[in-house]
Amino acid sequence: MTSFVRTVLGDVPAGEVGRTNYHEHLFQVTPLLPGDELDDEQCSRDEAGLLRDSGFEALVDATPTGLGRNPAALARISASQNLHVVAATGAHRVAHYGSAHWLRDLSEEQLGARFSADLFEGMPVSDGPERRAIALAPGGQPVRAGILKAGIGYWSISTFERRVLAGVAEAHARTGAPVMVHLEHGSAALELLDLLASCGVKAESVVLAHIDRNPDPVLHAELAAAGAYLGYDGFARTRTGPDTTLIECLLRTAALGGEDRLLLGGDVARRTRYVAYGGMPGLAYLGHRVVPRLIRAGQAGLVHKVLVDNPARLLGRGGLVPEVGKGQR
Ligand SMILES: [Zn+2]
Repeated sequence: MTSFVRTVLGDVPAGEVGRTNYHEHLFQVTPLLPGDELDDEQCSRDEAGLLRDSGFEALVDATPTGLGRNPAALARISASQNLHVVAATGAHRVAHYGSAHWLRDLSEEQLGARFSADLFEGMPVSDGPERRAIALAPGGQPVRAGILKAGIGYWSISTFERRVLAGVAEAHARTGAPVMVHLEHGSAALELLDLLASCGVKAESVVLAHIDRNPDPVLHAELAAAGAYLGYDGFARTRTGPDTTLIECLLRTAALGGEDRLLLGGDVARRTRYVAYGGMPGLAYLGHRVVPRLIRAGQAGLVHKVLVDNPARLLGRGGLVPEVGKGQR
């Protein structure tokens, strides 16, 4: 049976999505990154073009509810830049929301209902306590989310984050949509998988974002053997370590049996690091600096798995109702 990836322009057969950057943010506004807002559609569109020109056909926009996500603009960018975009619903770790943020008042049931509606009906034009009109793509169809997101702290899961995880699990049970979880410094991965399993979410549907901040290939192989996907997205962070550390960790994890679970992203996420906003190194860094190193290491086969086969398998896991014919870019 064909599986489908839910993009902002409609459902696309998983086998047609192509080379995928599993984690970026075309739009993001958070109190944790003052002055680093991604909120200019023209600049974000230009940066998406740079990513496409560096060898990618798809990206996941990992910005969840209440952090400046812009579904209608994502759809316009996808259409104009000929790039598949998968949008996120769910919520980030609590630190991204001010103490009086409306999202923190919602119950587990209310969160689950909102996340499900984003996946099934479409996302609101902008997020607020009252659910606003649904964002529309250039073709007039609703812009739907295709992945659920949650986040936890450094070896900690707050009460809000537990409610979000429960809401995500509820929406996952209804829709089958894949689940991305932000791990702070790569911590608490096994503990998180246990918690999600207790809520009915199997590891095969989960990607552990930022697991490479703890570059431990033995742990990564263990997580992969449990079924979880491993999000490597910490390149170009020379303050914390060189790319070589991550590349060697990735190659060792693959050699230990994890090759069908590895994913690559940039998670650049900051205005000051987007070329189109006047910064660097930009979204093309992954395609221009990281992927060629893997190819030169004789790993073209692994690159195909990491960029094409693995994201297609994860993102196409949803039991989401397919809408064949609506996925043209
Ligand atoms: Zn991110």
